[in-house]
Amino acid sequence: MSLPLDCLFCKFVAGTLATEIVAQNERAIAFRDINPQAPVHVLVIPREHYADVATLAAADPQALADLIELAQEVALDEADGEYRLIFNSGPLAGQSVFHVHGHVLGGRKLGWTPA
Ligand code: 5GP
Ligand code: ZN
Repeated sequence: MSLPLDCLFCKFVAGTLATEIVAQNERAIAFRDINPQAPVHVLVIPREHYADVATLAAADPQALADLIELAQEVALDEADGEYRLIFNSGPLAGQSVFHVHGHVLGGRKLGWTPA
């Protein structure tokens, strides 16, 4: 697991690297994915650093609930509340940034080719 100081997404939270934040609450922020896979592709992350969703759920279930609440808010704003929320866990599943993030995908009829 990368240390928070080395973590790209921690830098977005701290504001030491710029990104376009589209929504936020006390515990989480949402910003657009740099390589969108759908008309709406927003990443939701907790302000605190956890490597993956299971680690977050075990350590701070309320922070995960707040993360999902923010995902729902973004989806209501941008995709009529119809969306897919994906947490890749581990390199084999496609995780490339080890600060937990949910992908909020929507804005069109989504395909289903996850594997
Ligand atoms: P993962 O592959 O870990 O599930 O998702 C990481 C996501 O972060 C990818 O969809 C990738 O496009 C996105 N990403 C990587 N670097 C940046 C960046 O510098 N800015 C933004 N906004 N997204 C990034
Ligand atoms: Zn981090």
